[in-house]
Amino acid sequence: MKSVKKSENGAGADSDEPGASTSLTGIGVSPGLAIGLALLFRSPASNAPSENLARVPASANNANSANTQIERERLHTAIEAAIGALRELAGQVAHEIGTAEAGIFEAQALMLEDPTITERADQLIEETSITAEAALHEAAEEQAALLAALPDPLWQGRAADVRDAAERVQAYLHPESRRGATLAERLAAVTEPVVVVADNLTPSDTVQMRTEQVAAIILEHGNATAHAAILARAMGIPAVMGLGPALFELVQEHETLVVNGTDGSVLVHPDAEQRTQAEHAIKQQRSERQAVRANITEWHLRLGQTRDRHPVPLLANVGTVADALTAAEMGAEGIGLLRTEFLFSDRATLPDEQEQAALYEAIITAFSEPARGTWRPIIIRTLDAGADKPLPALASVLRDLPPEENPALGVRGIRLQLLASDLLTTQLRAILRAVARTHAHVRIMLPMVSSVEEVREARALLLAARTALEQEGVALNTTTALGMMVETPAATMAIDTLVREVSFLSIGTNDLTQYVMAADRLSPALTRLCQPIQPPVLRAIAATVAGAHRAGRHAGVCGEMAGDPRLAPLLVGLGVDELSMTPASIPAVKQALAAHTLTELRALAEHALRATTLNEVERLLAL
Ligand code: PEP
Ligand code: MG
Repeated sequence: MKSVKKSENGAGADSDEPGASTSLTGIGVSPGLAIGLALLFRSPASNAPSENLARVPASANNANSANTQIERERLHTAIEAAIGALRELAGQVAHEIGTAEAGIFEAQALMLEDPTITERADQLIEETSITAEAALHEAAEEQAALLAALPDPLWQGRAADVRDAAERVQAYLHPESRRGATLAERLAAVTEPVVVVADNLTPSDTVQMRTEQVAAIILEHGNATAHAAILARAMGIPAVMGLGPALFELVQEHETLVVNGTDGSVLVHPDAEQRTQAEHAIKQQRSERQAVRANITEWHLRLGQTRDRHPVPLLANVGTVADALTAAEMGAEGIGLLRTEFLFSDRATLPDEQEQAALYEAIITAFSEPARGTWRPIIIRTLDAGADKPLPALASVLRDLPPEENPALGVRGIRLQLLASDLLTTQLRAILRAVARTHAHVRIMLPMVSSVEEVREARALLLAARTALEQEGVALNTTTALGMMVETPAATMAIDTLVREVSFLSIGTNDLTQYVMAADRLSPALTRLCQPIQPPVLRAIAATVAGAHRAGRHAGVCGEMAGDPRLAPLLVGLGVDELSMTPASIPAVKQALAAHTLTELRALAEHALRATTLNEVERLLAL
């Protein structure tokens, strides 16, 4: 947290006075002003002790045989209660979020209805006189272990579902140790938009939020390129991150908060005057947003280009069907990055091939339908899970790996996909199926590439998937281009060899910055070091673009830098051919590019490449 201070302009000037307003400063990661009551949420990882309470050791043996009937009844009552709650939750989620998300809870209810676990737990109670908790734990573990040992990763993934469903029942057996409700469960119960105050949020927590429920987000951890920040921007929810560990001491449940996601300030417990000021500013923001919307219409039909008409296609980064619709509305010239991991982030298991194909088809249709007939590329990135994007559905795959000391340098992105290549094959087949059905201009992009072998292995899997589908009678008329993200220093240094292996490149400046600067993109303490305009990062971008051009290939950028109207012109000056960004940024970036000629931007880039410090680059860009 950068600073905490008691307000000096109001009744609460005295720092010892109860009820004084307090102002906090963090990193503004999603612009906008909002006011709302605090909803405190600690992510499950930080809740471990209460989760453990729900697990009773299998050796517990405190029920004598006379009580076995009582234990069985306790078990059955808890299972029924858990099924009822899951069904209710599924209904709510289907109504407020979507049927795909509701499916997670429905599947868990079905699992509990299946007699396999109940019958085994009954048997254990009967034969060994253990408690309902212990019997349930043992029966569920046996079932999960069976599933985890199956060769098919999809079945392995069901092991996590079994454990999760059993934990829900444990909560009903032990109401006093009931695990904290999920964020989605808590948000489903709110009647007014709240400010979510959390230590950290996973992409899955964030993607399930709705603007009717969430006015703003403030977090202890996080930074501008954290995935929660990327999603908050895409959804237009103001957010401040990196507020530090004192956040939970300073903010109480239901406390009024004024959040400014533009300058990173948070006002806790505003006095009457501060409140009125904030409400006035929010009204003004609303009318400004309406003006921006009018502006979107004006800019919608124009293409991305410099003042002297050098074309720079502006594409969209999307993670949901809603994003794809917004992308079309904002006049995106294509989808430059579909983060497929966001599509599955709230799933207990990965969808099978057909279901995945339907999801890709839904995204393609949502984006393409409003401009039917026009040629617009759609780049689908294969699963980029691991590190800061944990995917519950992959728990069973990861369980067999040793714990990682440095997840950002661990088995993530393409590394994970090649390790569990069935997952990649399923995804490639699903993408090809969606292409066959829609005839869309889809390209496939690999994340986190650091060696030629990774690309070759993935290409071999793509060819095999294609051949197999054709043999099954799926008509694939066009080839699907394979490209890669440039996100590692290794990829920038081996660009001349890597570029010959692929059809296109997209520079992921979020990760590239983190790895070039060796600075965790999530660490608020390293914010200045982890800037994409640090001179070494600019040189890595320039080297990548030059390598791509030498081989006659295009190089795009799809990191957050591309959507910043202050930085996008510099990228064009560095020779970047296309920019992909959060859909809402497209109109502002179009305007920023249209203000300069290509010659001006090249001169700007030349100066920036000669800069030796971040300060110099900032001065050059008038930041
Ligand atoms: C990047 O690293 O710049 C990128 C676009 O990928 P992600 O943010 O999903 O890691
Ligand atoms: Mg990345």
